[in-house]
Amino acid sequence: MVIRIDPKLERLSRDELTKIQGDRLRVLVNRAWKHIPFYRRIWKERGFSPEEIRTVEDIVKIPFVTKRDILESIERFPPFGDYQGDFPSIRIQASTGSTGKPKPIFHTRNDWENIASLWARRLYAQGMRPNDIVQIAFAYTLFIVGFTSTEGAMKLGALVIPTGSGAVTSSERQIQIAHDWGTTVMGCTGSYMLHLAEVAKKMGFDPRRDFKIRISFHTAEPLTPQMRKDIEEIWGCKAYNNYGSVETGAPTYECEEQDGLHISEDAYIFEIVDPETGKPLPEGKEGELVVTTLFKEAAPFIRYRIGDITSFIPGQCACGRTYRRMNAIRGRVDDMIKVKGVAIYPTDLEPSIAKYEVFGREYLITLWKEGHREFIKVSVEYVGPEQERDEYRKRLALDLRATLGLHCEVETLPSDTIKTILKTEQRIKYKRILDLRK
Ligand code: ZN
Repeated sequence: MVIRIDPKLERLSRDELTKIQGDRLRVLVNRAWKHIPFYRRIWKERGFSPEEIRTVEDIVKIPFVTKRDILESIERFPPFGDYQGDFPSIRIQASTGSTGKPKPIFHTRNDWENIASLWARRLYAQGMRPNDIVQIAFAYTLFIVGFTSTEGAMKLGALVIPTGSGAVTSSERQIQIAHDWGTTVMGCTGSYMLHLAEVAKKMGFDPRRDFKIRISFHTAEPLTPQMRKDIEEIWGCKAYNNYGSVETGAPTYECEEQDGLHISEDAYIFEIVDPETGKPLPEGKEGELVVTTLFKEAAPFIRYRIGDITSFIPGQCACGRTYRRMNAIRGRVDDMIKVKGVAIYPTDLEPSIAKYEVFGREYLITLWKEGHREFIKVSVEYVGPEQERDEYRKRLALDLRATLGLHCEVETLPSDTIKTILKTEQRIKYKRILDLRK
């Protein structure tokens, strides 16, 4: 199948979409059964056969596939696993999972072209046009984003400057190029966009006045509301969030409304399930994302539990696109921590911390136990006046209590100390959490 970049496709009726999804799902399942030993093996073991799929609603009959299944496949059938199929693949990209070895993902020529088209769809929705000059400062590496965003921008007819990440083109050079060549669109992670602003200022530039950047697009890490606000204010541009991965390609995008992420439903089926029971959740309820890539030939993911937590947004977007929307990723199933019976994600803390200019961006959560009682401490960096330190510490504790429903101890540290702790403390299993309860 070929994904087309056609605004009409983003405005199909629900009936038309359901029909397309059902047809494509049937084709996908039959193709996987025939060509991909991994699915045939797992589906036989778990008692599923392709005839069970008639309409899109039948998707719930397909057994889930997990990260563990993929890793096991690589172990049993090295070096690439048996989930790649016997298609004429042309390149490997790999995810740099926190769970160990990179997972190789094969792409056929069609897969590659389709992901490029999905990127073009994203970028068009975010205002990119053929006369734009697009600087791409994502890493060109096994991770997919750098290459596919480049292909997508080229497909739209824009002029790409592939500088790559700061590791290959220094930030000073990135800034000089953006200034001299008149970059109008910048693609990079949100945190790098903020870093570039600092570098620009150090070089004597005013990010708002001395550049032509009008759009920035981000992915690969969560773009928090505060980061978006900062980027838009500092650069005087519109900043857009996109969610995707090496496994999926380019499944979601914000439109000009910046009101949730549209899912390209002609190419993907997204479900949200209860992480504990695997049961589908009603619209608006938060749970684990399950992804099906309808278009992929090599290495399709079919009912894949990707481990990210989000929820669908009810209702239609003001832009007129009919593709359903989801909220930005709130965290990973693996990052969820339960404290005193309350489930929280590290990112839940960010809005409260960002409210006060006296606190830095870095934070650390420490959990410990005394007897059976659990305690949580949030450490932040304090850069405000010394006499107000205690006042702000108390205010943050109150804010956290209101948003998390938990009493947190708050500790204020001098600036730049948390980065050092995060780097050197071996026991920090996931980002920003030091769990001493075990
Ligand atoms: Zn929209």
